[in-house]
Amino acid sequence: MDAKPLEPLYDGHGRPITSLRVSVTDRCNFRCSYCMPAEGMDWLAREDVLSFEEIERLVRLLARMGVTDLRLTGGEPLARREFPQLLARLAPVPGLTDLSLTTNGYLLERQLPELVAAGLRRINVSLDSLARHRFLELTRRDALERVLSSLRAAEAYPQLHPIKVNCVAMRGFTEEEILPFAEFARSHPYEVRFIEFMPLDADHAWDRDSVLSGAEIRTVIETEHALEAVPREPHATARTYRFADGSGAIGFINPVSEPFCADCNRIRVTADGKLRTCLFSLHETDLRAPMRAGAGDAELERVLRDAVWRKELKHHIAEPGFRQPARTMSAIGG
Ligand code: SAM
Ligand code: SF4
Repeated sequence: MDAKPLEPLYDGHGRPITSLRVSVTDRCNFRCSYCMPAEGMDWLAREDVLSFEEIERLVRLLARMGVTDLRLTGGEPLARREFPQLLARLAPVPGLTDLSLTTNGYLLERQLPELVAAGLRRINVSLDSLARHRFLELTRRDALERVLSSLRAAEAYPQLHPIKVNCVAMRGFTEEEILPFAEFARSHPYEVRFIEFMPLDADHAWDRDSVLSGAEIRTVIETEHALEAVPREPHATARTYRFADGSGAIGFINPVSEPFCADCNRIRVTADGKLRTCLFSLHETDLRAPMRAGAGDAELERVLRDAVWRKELKHHIAEPGFRQPARTMSAIGG
């Protein structure tokens, strides 16, 4: 397989594209209310989902075009059969310097040894409540203990530290979780990050008032603990703060109140092989059809460059006329 570097990938606004998120399945064993409907999801047919070979081909090509960071997501990535085998195929791809996984944690504990052996170096575990009944209310699954147990199991792997825990922040729900999560971050080797609720939910319940902003959450934490800002790395989505007494860190991902589009370096590929240049894209580019029609790498490269050139300048959440994409977060790959 050709590993020769190609021209780096840029969009039409001059932003280098170095980060790729691949959704490996649209299926999920949870039904988080901010993402999926309680029932009635239509799953992709098996033959419509990219094979491991197809995913590897795209990743190799994009890595030659300058992509260095790869995050595997879904739906629930660990629900895809033989997922560690995919990881093992992708870990050695030349050019990749970061390979991470976003998971709800339900299937994590028993797969951890295999995942780490396959080359996993970073995990983000989603966790929106530390109270059993509230976790059940939000995810529609009684699985808090199991997720916490996966997190404890991950602590045994120094190569996975710092373990990141993502909590979607919704007004009317998350307020009660703020201080418990601050304590959780202080007493575990986890960096908790609050993510502002975005209009990508199947139930279309999002409105501007339903977003609990990162600034509001930080104010609450600062009533109990002094925080010190950590300098922001280029392209980082999170603003990170250390607890001033040295016990741990906490982060805020504020796409609604403080958009970070200006230095966005990300593109996404859905489980059915559509390239999305923004979470909020209304237009997608099919990569599966050309691959299955026998396109060579040069042709695929041209398709990728053309689509990336048209990457959206910014999202328009909360602006008049904003249209929510048809796909939910689970079908995009968050
Ligand atoms: N199932 C895995 C999980 O939950 O971690 C991976 C896929 S999930 C779609 C990826 C991330 O998107 C999760 O951290 C989830 O909390 C977040 N997410 C889903 N819907 C969201 C929304 N409407 N607004 C903000 N974040 C959302
Ligand atoms: Fe599943 Fe993740 Fe969506 Fe929750 S956020 S329903 S775990 S894909």
